[in-house]
Amino acid sequence: MARYTGPSCKLCRREGKKLYLKGTRCNSDKCAMERKANAPGSKGRNFRKKISDYGLHLREKQATRRIYGILERQFRRYFAMASAKDGITGENLLQILEARLDNVLYRMGYAPSRKSARQIIRHGHVLVNDRKTNIPSFLVKPNQVISIKEKSRTMNIIQEAMESSTDVSKYEWLEIDKDNFKGTFIAVPSRAQIPVDVDERLIVEFYSK
Ligand code: SF4
Repeated sequence: MARYTGPSCKLCRREGKKLYLKGTRCNSDKCAMERKANAPGSKGRNFRKKISDYGLHLREKQATRRIYGILERQFRRYFAMASAKDGITGENLLQILEARLDNVLYRMGYAPSRKSARQIIRHGHVLVNDRKTNIPSFLVKPNQVISIKEKSRTMNIIQEAMESSTDVSKYEWLEIDKDNFKGTFIAVPSRAQIPVDVDERLIVEFYSK
């Protein structure tokens, strides 16, 4: 499936905010949004000023899709799933996105970004309840245990991610056992617990038009 392979920072500049697409590396002073916050291209400087109501809704949807690294078709599918569930559609949508295996692996601190998490998963380094799972979009259920395969634990990308992710305990819905390279998805997080700077109501309105 076609996937965006260009520079991550360009997407942040397009959305006009930090999307943290490089994960732990986004906190350095090299972040493009700290240095050059206008949208890419020659018209980028005026991009924010011209935004219409439709554009506002579209940008929020695009920003969310990009944060989680999801293509439009799949994002629409998640929206349909969220709409079919009881509760608030916008919150349901974010909860589905948070349950993706690539996101969970990243949040647990075993990958430096969601993009790297997808690669680690596809290459077969991750187990869910002790069974190899190489599908990044796998939706993790409460009480499922995610672990790194024993042979894969010395990989640089995993080691470095674990060293730089020192604050993973802030995610109350995850129980992380770094000594044993595993973690449990204890419960689906509430909207208030999900640290993503988007207004999901705009996404719901976008698809409801
Ligand atoms: Fe976005 Fe900054 Fe991270 Fe680049 S370094 S992906 S601009 S948050």
